Amino acid sequence: MTQLNKDFLQGFLFDNSDVRGKIVRLNNSIRTIMDQHDYLPAIRSILGELLAASVLLSSTLKYEGQLTLQFQGESAIKMLVAKCNHKFEIRGLAQWDKDVDAEQLRQAFFSGKLMITVEEARDNQRHQSIVAIENKSIAEAIETYFKQSEQIPTKIILGNDKNYFAGFLAQKMPSHSTEQINFWQHVDILTSTLKSEELIKWDNQTLLKKLFHEEDIRLFHIEPVMFNCTCSHEKTQNTLRLLGQKEALAAFLTHKVLTVTCEYCNKSYEFTKQAVEQLFH
Ligand SMILES: [Zn+2]
Repeated sequence: MTQLNKDFLQGFLFDNSDVRGKIVRLNNSIRTIMDQHDYLPAIRSILGELLAASVLLSSTLKYEGQLTLQFQGESAIKMLVAKCNHKFEIRGLAQWDKDVDAEQLRQAFFSGKLMITVEEARDNQRHQSIVAIENKSIAEAIETYFKQSEQIPTKIILGNDKNYFAGFLAQKMPSHSTEQINFWQHVDILTSTLKSEELIKWDNQTLLKKLFHEEDIRLFHIEPVMFNCTCSHEKTQNTLRLLGQKEALAAFLTHKVLTVTCEYCNKSYEFTKQAVEQLFH
């Protein structure tokens, strides 16, 4: 089905229940992000899964803002970030120690932690949580986050095939009726049988029919997901101000123009010496 090669998020709901779900599929957006840098396959698969997870997480927020998944841990991975905002615009970045091999990178990642930051646009409020990856999967780390920070039972499956990533989330909304708890356990068990390859291969309708063939499910409209970098000339000016006058002007000892490149999208911003001096007046 053609649906599989688009970038989108789609929600669904089990009729007469408080269990909901989301499915995300990423193609072009991931390709754009991966093309910015020469990423190793080990880094690509981790970054791609984090990006798919960031969309699923973002889709559960009730307000406008930005969600960031950031790796914390061993220095073999210097930086690993996936971001998604309420418009489902994603961007991501990874930097690592070029002297270590793929296995060492994987080990560094799976023994580290994930910091989950939610920034509310309305009042600039920030909520931060940290979950240990503990040699489990990214999907399990996100499930732990929902259990610990939100007390929401959640099941997540992630999968990928080269530059195509997909994610599946099923979640039980708060309610204490025995009937709903039993229904959630039923959904939880069935979701656990979903293999990554099946998530990649089946379109959403087929997937839900095969997985929950006895249930009535409402599938909502698809919402596009795309790569978009929010960098700007103004934000780059702020970065230079934070860097400090001395540091910023040092570039002109060897260069006529100061070029600042955004790592997320490779866009370059140029400043003359006069422009930099003006920033500090
Ligand atoms: Zn940018």
